[in-house]
Amino acid sequence: MRFSQLLIPTLKENPAEAEVISHQLMLRAGFIRKLTSGIYSYLPLGLAAIRKVEQIVREEMNRAGAQELLLPMVQPAELWEESGRWQKYGPELLRFTDRHERRSCLGPTHEEVITDLVRKNIHSYRRLPLNLYQIQTKFRDEIRPRFGLMRGREFIMKDAYSFDADDQGASATYEKMKLAYQRIFHRCGLKFRAVEADSGSIGGNFSHEFMVLADTGEDTIVACTKCSYAANMEKARAREIPAPEKPELKPLEKIKTPGKRKVKAVTEFLNISPAELVKTLVFLADGKPVAVLLRGDHEVQEVKLCNLLGVQDVELADDKQVYDITGVPTGYLGPVGLKIPLVADREVVKMVNFTVGANEKNYHSLNVNPGRDFTIEKTADLRMITAEDHCPLCGAALDLTRGIEVGHIFKLGTVYSEALKARFLDNQGNEIPFVMGCYGIGVSRVVAAAIEQNHDRDGMIFPLPIAPAQVILLNLSSRDDKITGAAESLYRELLADNIEVILDDRDERPGVKFKDADLLGIPVRLMVGKSFTKEGNIEIRTRKNGRVITVPLAETVTRVREIIDSELAVAVG
Ligand code: ATP
Ligand code: MG
Repeated sequence: MRFSQLLIPTLKENPAEAEVISHQLMLRAGFIRKLTSGIYSYLPLGLAAIRKVEQIVREEMNRAGAQELLLPMVQPAELWEESGRWQKYGPELLRFTDRHERRSCLGPTHEEVITDLVRKNIHSYRRLPLNLYQIQTKFRDEIRPRFGLMRGREFIMKDAYSFDADDQGASATYEKMKLAYQRIFHRCGLKFRAVEADSGSIGGNFSHEFMVLADTGEDTIVACTKCSYAANMEKARAREIPAPEKPELKPLEKIKTPGKRKVKAVTEFLNISPAELVKTLVFLADGKPVAVLLRGDHEVQEVKLCNLLGVQDVELADDKQVYDITGVPTGYLGPVGLKIPLVADREVVKMVNFTVGANEKNYHSLNVNPGRDFTIEKTADLRMITAEDHCPLCGAALDLTRGIEVGHIFKLGTVYSEALKARFLDNQGNEIPFVMGCYGIGVSRVVAAAIEQNHDRDGMIFPLPIAPAQVILLNLSSRDDKITGAAESLYRELLADNIEVILDDRDERPGVKFKDADLLGIPVRLMVGKSFTKEGNIEIRTRKNGRVITVPLAETVTRVREIIDSELAVAVG
């Protein structure tokens, strides 16, 4: 590839529309261009990086025994009605009607289509297990597409779906895919972590997200500083705080707290710590009010609350809703005498003599105790983990770091096979539903995440396995015949050795070529310039650490080959 002929429309300035570094750099380096909100064209270098990720994904999926196919992007409404998702899936599902009044949607994911394919074609346990995958453009009408390829409306995903004869088989397939994912992100050269994620009604440890570690990530990861425990915020647990031994229950007391509504104001006024106060929050759970009790310094984790209540969605009631439901202004709510269902975080049940709102404007109650003063319907871990918490497995300190979700694996069980009546005959002749799993990787997001994790002020620093090219060869004086001759012959030699190289043959100053090479983040930079004229040497610079070595022209290809092979030879467990 010759720089002079490639479409690499680099920009000098940071584009104003881009908030995050990967988006800025991909625009500046001419990797992508926006067509419209959340929809991008992948230009040659951007596409080259995407293809690299795809290839690694393909190799590892095939190694794990999955088969590639390609499913349609346009899907009929009827299938989604069968699964119940035509109604349930939010406005992210782009629905439309064609010229024959057929209702359709653009595939945001393919559980329905694949289940339909399998139910029509697989009828016996003898054909199981079966694991099918595709790499394809998905469409999700995201409410806030942003950060370039990180959260697009159109994006490239690898999605796999597995079909097993029984639960045990499905669990084994799940573990196999977890290993395949580990190999994939490892081979991409990324620092990542597999974290436990919420598996909703399936239960067990059968949902993991793969997070690329980056300070700019949208997600928070909780990880133990000692053992292997790691989870996302929705799932993270902490070691339980022990209950006090023989607590002495003090008599309930009402106290005037004029105008003090927030935890901070009330606790400062009463000179107590937020850990001695219990806040009462009203939520609308699928529209129905429920009160949630939580220690003053804790926050609710809404997915945990949904799971406890068995609802799809919870929403914090606003001041007016709270008043309409309870007759009490927000800030003075408390559990004693409250007429709506009451659930509590498990820490609350162990607290004694705490402070709550008195269900009366400008008043709070002191020395309140569960059981004696009010009844709780259900208790569970409902809160967000904090940096002060400890590991649920080993008790060591927990670390909260940021990450970008690049993959998600999930045991589905029989949710879709039951709904779509996808059954097969087992070895006893019984007709039973397939046990399924689904496994996604955001291929285009992986490239963005790699840049978020690996860059400096000068540009991207691609891990070699997913770089759009392995080498950039700079002809530093395209008007000098000797230098140009050497650069051209080196270029041919590299190509002959199957090394992916961009020859910067443009009639530009060396400074411009250095800047662009850094911006594009190509791992190995070769320079044919003064040192060649003087000593017949080529300079080899590694983008990652800026190290420069000087070698004779004749040895260059061998040295480059060594560098590439050592970067590609990552140990995969
Ligand atoms: P998110 O929570 O980021 O919206 P999700 O959990 O809805 O993602 P999945 O349904 O698990 O996404 O999709 C599988 C993978 O596809 C995700 O792990 C992510 O890497 C990628 N992905 C999802 N939505 C987008 C998007 N809008 N743009 C780019 N990649 C995406
Ligand atoms: Mg996900």
